[in-house]
Amino acid sequence: RFSTAAVLEEPITPPVQINYTQNLINGQFVDAASGKTFPTYDPRTGEVIANVAEGDVEDINRAVAAARKAFDEGPWPKMTAYERSRILLRFADLVEKHSDELAALETWNCGKPYEQSAKSELPMLVRLFHYYAGWADKIHGLTVPGDGKYHIQTLHEPIGVAGQIIPWNFPLIMFAWKVGPALACGNTIVLKTAEQTPLTALYVAKLFLEVAFKIFIVYYLYQGLYVIIFKKWSPSCVLHSISRDAQTIAGLPPGVLNIVSGYGPTAGAALASHMDVDKLAFTGSTTTGQIVLQLAAKSNLKSVTLELGGKSPFIICEDADIDHAVEQAHFALFFNQGQCCCAGSRTYVHERVYDEFVEKSKARAIKRIVGDPFKKGIEQGPQIDSEQFQKVLRYIRSGIESNATLECGGDRFGTRGYFVQPTVFSNVQDDMLIAQDEIFGPVQSILKFKDINDVIRRANTTRYGLAAGVFTKSVETANTAMRALRAGTVWINCYDVFDAAIPFGGYKMSGIGREKGIYSLNNYLQVKAVVTPLKNPAW
Ligand code: NAD
Repeated sequence: RFSTAAVLEEPITPPVQINYTQNLINGQFVDAASGKTFPTYDPRTGEVIANVAEGDVEDINRAVAAARKAFDEGPWPKMTAYERSRILLRFADLVEKHSDELAALETWNCGKPYEQSAKSELPMLVRLFHYYAGWADKIHGLTVPGDGKYHIQTLHEPIGVAGQIIPWNFPLIMFAWKVGPALACGNTIVLKTAEQTPLTALYVAKLFLEVAFKIFIVYYLYQGLYVIIFKKWSPSCVLHSISRDAQTIAGLPPGVLNIVSGYGPTAGAALASHMDVDKLAFTGSTTTGQIVLQLAAKSNLKSVTLELGGKSPFIICEDADIDHAVEQAHFALFFNQGQCCCAGSRTYVHERVYDEFVEKSKARAIKRIVGDPFKKGIEQGPQIDSEQFQKVLRYIRSGIESNATLECGGDRFGTRGYFVQPTVFSNVQDDMLIAQDEIFGPVQSILKFKDINDVIRRANTTRYGLAAGVFTKSVETANTAMRALRAGTVWINCYDVFDAAIPFGGYKMSGIGREKGIYSLNNYLQVKAVVTPLKNPAW
């Protein structure tokens, strides 16, 4: 009894072509060193949509060598911060221009509603690059008051080659969270995409190359005109300066951004353990985070930031606006097919409003519009792949077996692809698996509480600490909960509010460090202290 057709009709043909499937190394799209490819799928049908170069150890080695050279020999880290900022701005403009194709490709490879890709994620991608372009020329050190006999200052320098590993649930947004600050700070990059979703990062990387190419042409035209008008080369117009200026002043030089598609235990592990990678930024599951942290430690002790999983509490007090809380709790859990690290996946409701909340949440879930993500008005598309689809169904079975009450859903949706019915469980207990593990699917678990202090304690009793939501009209309750909850983000009477400037990251096993905002810059900077004796300390 879900509101759209229970059987998916013929899938809509995506309005985009797949042109980039090779790895991007040193400014060139190239096949994998082994010549191997791997398939990437359309989650609506489970059919292969493209075969992509399968990067492995040798491809990572080549990409790291290119990034190393681009960092050590420049010009990227040495060019003015203003020039770097302009390149990022031009890139953001190109992304904006190609937003429709990028949104279509993201939806095709990921299964998320096209309206979400186009209206929310692409504008956010552009915004993130504008934001970090703005930071590029505002990064500076400090003058430190020390012993009066010395002049002491700090230089904030790029770290070097950044290895970045991203997941499949928000491929473009994760690309921006990592690439934006790393480039703004002057680092070079080797980024490994998730094996499920390699396509959009390659497309946007092509746009970075386009920036370089276009300016190169403009530069030649300018020099040509100068020669015609003044009958001599323009002052800077010799071949070496054309290549220097065109590549360094205007576009992204080769080797600054390298992208390798491939699997985690091969390409990903090679990147995490590479001796020439200076920094590793990882987003993915907590289990893989532990693996990459060990690889980083055992190789060259590269600095590591981790954005990992969560099991975020969403607390609804008895004085909350219930209709608003129902809608927000629904959004907090079901957004992006439930595939959000910060999904509000433990919905705690005060006992006095519990029954009403459950009834309304069930009604809302039944109304959720599931179907082909390219269709207008669709709220929920398929899960990413067969593995995640089966995992979500296993958790649903576990909820039923542990005697939680299945209010609605509980099975696959339709007969094709990886669609799951929006599922709501009530009478969930803290010790049930569905209340403890990250399900990463459209399964809402509603628990009951009596006392705010007790629910805060229960909310904190988890190995995760990524986010939390509190719904109340009381300022005292909101303030108490906000301070007591051990989570990297606390949303009060709202949820999933994101902005380029708001930091994001986890307490406990949800991660190490913060991304976005000013905090992200620290992930990509070294601090050098410089101490100089003063000739006349009195001055
Ligand atoms: P995952 O850990 O399986 O994979 C993430 C990335 O790590 C992929 O690129 C994968 O290829 C790579 N990888 C896998 N094994 C590896 C290994 N041995 N060495 C190096 N790299 C390896 O996670 P996933 O299933 O792709 O993503 C879902 C997880 O990501 C969820 O747990 C979710 O909560 C988390 N996530 C967290 C955030 C955040 O900001 N905290 C954001 C998005 C997703």
